Parts: sequence; C-alpha cells; structure tokens
Amino acid sequence: MSLIEMSHRSKEYEAINNSAQQLVRELLDVPPNYKILFMQGGGLGCFSAICMNLMGRTGEADYLVTGTWSSIAAKEAAKYGKVNMVFPRPETRSIPHPRTWKLSENASFVFYCDNETVDGVEFNYVPETRGVPLVADMSSNIMTKKVDVSKYGIIFAGAQKNIGPSGVVLVIVREDLLGNASKYCPTVFDFAHISKNNSVHHTPTTFSVYVMEKVLQWIKRCGGVDKMAQNSYDKSTTLYNAITNSNNFYVCPIEESCRSRINIPFRVGGANGDDALESKFLEEAEKLRMYQLKGHRSVGGIRASLYNATSVEDVKLLVQFMEEFRKQHGP
Ligand code: PLP
Repeated sequence: MSLIEMSHRSKEYEAINNSAQQLVRELLDVPPNYKILFMQGGGLGCFSAICMNLMGRTGEADYLVTGTWSSIAAKEAAKYGKVNMVFPRPETRSIPHPRTWKLSENASFVFYCDNETVDGVEFNYVPETRGVPLVADMSSNIMTKKVDVSKYGIIFAGAQKNIGPSGVVLVIVREDLLGNASKYCPTVFDFAHISKNNSVHHTPTTFSVYVMEKVLQWIKRCGGVDKMAQNSYDKSTTLYNAITNSNNFYVCPIEESCRSRINIPFRVGGANGDDALESKFLEEAEKLRMYQLKGHRSVGGIRASLYNATSVEDVKLLVQFMEEFRKQHGP
C-alpha cells in the first residue's frame, strides 16, 4: 500500500507527520511554547486564517505593506476588521525606515511579509512591535536563514518554494495566541483545533507532508539552515555582483538596503528594460535549459528566484550566461 492510499490516522502517517514537525522544530530551533501546524489553503488561505484567529481580540491590526503579497494580505484583512497601514506603500521598491512607522495602540497583531517574492524586497531585521504579536509571511524565504522564532507570534509559509511541494502550509504559532478564533472561523482554519488534533483533524495533504519531510531531511543533511543561509548569501552576492559590474546593462531596481537574497528582479538593456532584449535573453536562457526567469507579469523584466534547491553552481552558470549575453548585445 502506498502512502497515498493510507489513512491519515494510521501509525505510518503519524510517524511522517511527527518527524516533519520535529525537523521543523530542530532546524529552526523552535522554542517549546510554539506549536507547529500543517494546514491547507495556501499562503492566501493563511492571510484570512490569521485574521480569523487573532483579529477578534481588538478588532484591528497593523500592516506593513512593502509589496504585492503584504498588500493582498492587507486587503483580505479588511474583510475582518480595521486595518491600519503602518506607513503608506512606498513608491519605490523599498522599506521605509522604522522611525517613520506609525504603529497603533490597539492592534491585535502586526503583519508583514519578510520577503516580497514579486518585488524582490526583503527585511534584514525583525520589525519591533512594542509587545504586539508579530505575524510573518515567510512563504518565499523560510529556512533560507536563521530566525529567532521567539520574536514572533506566528510565522507561516506555503511549502512550495523552499521546503516542499504545494498543498501544505507550515504555521508556527505561539501557544498563548491559540483559542481566540472568531465564531465564524471554519474549523479547518482554527489554529487551536488543528493544534489539538496534531494537524490530522481532517485529511491533510499527506503526500505533500511526506515530500516536505524528505526535503527537511535533505536540508539537515546539507548542514541545516546555517548552510542554506551561507548558500543563499553566496548565490545572491554572485548575482548582484554580476548586475553591479555590468556597466548598467543589467539594472536591479531595488534599494540596496533591502534587496532580497531570494528573488532578484532585474532589467536588461538599462533601467527601464528593453523589451526586445529581455525576450531574447529569456529565449537564449531557455536554450541553455534555464527556465522561469521571466519577471512577474505585474512588474515585468527578469527575475531569478534562488530558492534552496538552486545551487551555487546553477547561479554561476546563470552569471556566465549573463556575461556572454552582455558581450554580444551590450554597448
Ligand atoms: N505570500 C508570499 C510571500 C508568496 O510568495 C505567495 C505566493 O507566491 C503567497 C503568499 C501566496 O501563496 P499561495 O499561492 O500558496 O496562496
């Protein structure tokens, strides 16, 4: 019998479920007063689940909007209560300095997206919230760096970029935040209920959890999150250096202080990008079997996503290709 046919209440699945939780705890050094949940509904589902579990406490929440995903999260949150924008959405792709932030007195939580996948903006510090629970969307950078979990109320991440296949969402939640779900919160989104039932209240995405467990084992074998962080630094530095040394043939539009180590957007042929050159770039890259380099449709250009499974060697090959392309097409 394969895992796909098995009951999620079988001892075989229980072993996989427990091992995956244990690996998350070990790899991220999760303190004992935090629960680890495997949920469904994707990152978007979690935007709502967070509100239904926490917002009822005061009826309002603070949002740090630094790009596409935090903006979508804030819009979703407005269905559940009052949303305070801590700062106006920046016009450039950047993070306003904390001294300009206006945190409110009565927020049930402060939400932010640690790495904006579309925009290429990443926090390199933990936002200070004066004791209000901090909620982080780490869908695109979970396990690419060490985090001090104790500074967070909730960390969540869709598995699909760095730790496994789509379907499962990892939620790490501080125990004292459980039990506040509003009465209209569907049971499948009630963190307390999912926690009490060890993430098998209803059929979980067993195959996704199974593969995630394997990926977590792989991360551990490679040397853990420290090794992923070192790789991430090496990969992103290699690519940013290539962009910086290209004599403005490649241009990254993100402010240097908050450039993502994971999603690196850039234009080809100058700051505004040359559409024809960018199409050619993508075409030539595909001939070398380098796929998925097209920027998100909302921002255009090129985007290299350097998730955990992308190796340092892969990035060196990309950079080699970029240099050759520049020699051929640059001024
Ligand atoms: N948050 C971030 C940072 C993301 O990158 C994404 C998807 O790319 C989402 C949320 C939405 O996740 P999902 O597609 O699983 O709903």
